[in-house]
Amino acid sequence: MSIQQNLAGIQRQIADCCQQADRTLSSVKLLAVSKTKPICAMQEAIQAGQTAFGENYVQEGVEKIQYFQQHDIKLEWHFIGPLQSNKSRLVAEYFDWVETIDRLKIAERLSQQRPTAFPPLRVLIQINISDEPSKSGILPADLLPLAKQISTLPNLQLRGLMAIPQESDDPIQQQLVFSHMQQLFQQLQQTLPQQPIDTLSLGMSGDMATAIKCGSTQVRIGTAIFGSRG
Ligand SMILES: *Cc1c(COP(=O)(O)O)cnc(C)c1O
Repeated sequence: MSIQQNLAGIQRQIADCCQQADRTLSSVKLLAVSKTKPICAMQEAIQAGQTAFGENYVQEGVEKIQYFQQHDIKLEWHFIGPLQSNKSRLVAEYFDWVETIDRLKIAERLSQQRPTAFPPLRVLIQINISDEPSKSGILPADLLPLAKQISTLPNLQLRGLMAIPQESDDPIQQQLVFSHMQQLFQQLQQTLPQQPIDTLSLGMSGDMATAIKCGSTQVRIGTAIFGSRG
């Protein structure tokens, strides 16, 4: 199957999930996760109309961003990998979104390093929703204090939450975890009514239906678009 066909298939799946959840198609955005994939694969996706891409590695992401900037192709770039302090400057200077904010220090650095001529860097706080020691993200109890501090940083715009829930073959358990994310998202909106909190980045190929049922506004899909990573 071509990348174009894969994308069409994913769009159909998103449309089905939206219909089942009684939501409009435009309320869920597809982020194409292009980490480790070459420019030519991304070009196929772009030709099929895809404009938002997620990258996990700073250097690789920046090289791709530079390439498309040089070719005058306007895209939206989301950093979705773990971020070390010593790499924050490049992220602040090149990306549009950072979805993996998990501490105040990295948010402060990104705000300081964001060029003031650019629009604010849009950020999501990552929640370790399944409380897995191996996963990054903050615990739910730490969300509101961190969110309040981030909302005061001048060159960032807090837009919502992201999570990578543990894979589960128990649909009831999965539904509970995803509903918990939805609750946190609503709490965040209520706590910071002045902030444009509109993004819940939740759901990948295996758990898209539950995510969309629980209010996800953005699903992140890599392998099902570009094929498996080497
Ligand atoms: C890699 C990655 C994805 C996409 O995973 P696939 O299994 O390739 O669809 C989504 N979200 C995050 C945070 C990732 O790192």
